[in-house]
Amino acid sequence: MTLDVQMTTDEVLTADTHLIQSFADLNALKQNDARTVIVSAEGALVRDSEGNELIDGIGGLWCVNVGHRRKEIIDAIHLQLNELDFYSTFYNFTHPTAAALSSKIASLAPGHLNKVYFANSGSVANDSAVRMLHHYNNRLGRPNKKKILSRIGAYHGSTHLSIAMTTPAYSEGWDSANDLVHHLRSPHFWREGEGMSEAEFLDALEADLEQSIERMGAENIAAFIAEPIMGAGGVIVAPEGYHIRMAAVCAANDIKYISDEVVTAFGRLGHFFASKDVFGVTPDIITTAKGLTSGYQPMSATIISDEIHDVISGPGSMFLHGMTYSGHPAAAAAGLANIALMERDQLPQQVRTTGKIFENALRGLSDLEIVGEVRGSHFMIGIEFIKDKATKAPFTPEDQIGLKIARATQKRGLIARPLGNILILSPPLILTEEQIGQIAEILRESILEVT
Ligand code: PLP
Repeated sequence: MTLDVQMTTDEVLTADTHLIQSFADLNALKQNDARTVIVSAEGALVRDSEGNELIDGIGGLWCVNVGHRRKEIIDAIHLQLNELDFYSTFYNFTHPTAAALSSKIASLAPGHLNKVYFANSGSVANDSAVRMLHHYNNRLGRPNKKKILSRIGAYHGSTHLSIAMTTPAYSEGWDSANDLVHHLRSPHFWREGEGMSEAEFLDALEADLEQSIERMGAENIAAFIAEPIMGAGGVIVAPEGYHIRMAAVCAANDIKYISDEVVTAFGRLGHFFASKDVFGVTPDIITTAKGLTSGYQPMSATIISDEIHDVISGPGSMFLHGMTYSGHPAAAAAGLANIALMERDQLPQQVRTTGKIFENALRGLSDLEIVGEVRGSHFMIGIEFIKDKATKAPFTPEDQIGLKIARATQKRGLIARPLGNILILSPPLILTEEQIGQIAEILRESILEVT
């Protein structure tokens, strides 16, 4: 049996009227020309249904870290499916691939983070972290210690719980479990630190955390959740030392630190995990997804400390949490092959060089009139456009500046992701210097065209 996916663009777009896209203006998508049909991919390139070859400047969606169509991963998935297509990790069952991947992740994760819960998305990885901490506090006789501290600008997913931890703007007009979450100030110095030095801004962020704890009561707060670098909130890098300071306040108040490394892990910042190796913090929980399998299979991991695990696995405790596809054999095989590839090719180490070349090439766009800030690190970059450099006056939503520039880059062969006034670049980590040069050139031409 073969699947018939040899469709013309028109056939795809007709069939696609049944598909609901994510985070999209569904009304605008009723116009056929608003959609791009991607049909194949190789390395850092994708091809659309019109035959255009495009540089995948967003790595699928911050996830195709080793590049597209890597035979090693495809073969590993194939072999796994031939051996064991599916069995669950419910009840007393396990299987070799999920077991091996959990052990591999534990060996790569910092310090005492040795226990891994698999799911299929970053959103559910974060939900799982919170549910486990709630159970942890119930077990310790602290039933009120449930609230979560997050931050303005954060993105932690879009399930009912993870969207509540995400910045409120993302659930405008929708509902969420927002009574559980308090959002602290955004750590974006360039926008939020007006009239302060960076050191003063950092003090203010720490004070915001301390005052929030004081007001809410540490006995009511289970955890603080933070991305090492905020991604979908616009690639926000906090002032140096921020994570260490926040982690110290959390530890002093018996509040667990969840590091959401859904984007930052598996090489994007030059290390398998960024929390400790880049930002100097050993969290209590790391959540990750995307680069774990480079997107070849949907998979996430919630990696918890031995201490949390000891409590939730003690006598009389039941782990009443589970997803059918937790540790799915094909996903686990993809994860193992992906990590093996990264280790063989020393990809994280390579990113410390090529990622810096990428970052510097894009920082070179700062001279353009409407470029307000180029920020981020290595292969995680955001470019914010502004109307006036002196006042930092923003473009209005009606200007659609990000969208217009993204359309201009796509016309020139580069997919970039518009997010209001920001353009995001999170390409595969295997870019050549030539491709990096091409991306910088396309971005410059496109920004100039729209200016
Ligand atoms: N956390 C972060 C930092 C993310 O960037 C994302 C997705 O982009 C998520 C969580 C949610 O992951 P998923 O879309 O796999 O549910």
